[in-house]
Amino acid sequence: FSMSAPFGKTCDELGKELKNKIDKIFGRSLTIREIDAGSCNGCEIEINALNNPIYDIERYGITFVASPRHADVLLVTGPASKNMERALKIAYDSTPNPKLVIAVGACACSGGIFGNTYATTGGIDGIVPVNVYIPGCPPRPQALLYGILMAINKI
Ligand code: SF4
Repeated sequence: FSMSAPFGKTCDELGKELKNKIDKIFGRSLTIREIDAGSCNGCEIEINALNNPIYDIERYGITFVASPRHADVLLVTGPASKNMERALKIAYDSTPNPKLVIAVGACACSGGIFGNTYATTGGIDGIVPVNVYIPGCPPRPQALLYGILMAINKI
């Protein structure tokens, strides 16, 4: 897929770079657990797009898994809501080390349009450590690929 890149690389170039690094570092697939910590679902739609035939993220050796116990990376969206605070902590604690956490979207990064209110926590880094922040409302799939690459580069 050759959409021009604000990150200096096309999606395909980002994906191939990711695949090379995943092969080298893990020697297997990179597993991701997506966690909706109270988002509007706009970010989820962009994350879901990573699995469509255009982006087809599995060809780069990246798989979404159902349990944080099987995940290398937590991809977290939402401001997070107070109701999701405990669930996010439990999911983080359940993820085996070494683990990476990526805050996806303005809400997860800083609270976004929801801010820090009686019902929200103003961003996920007040709850769990964050390795990479991906801004945007919502960030496009290309930005997600770039953010995952940045996270892998931290290993
Ligand atoms: Fe929704 Fe935007 Fe917040 Fe994502 S960053 S959860 S799209 S309001």
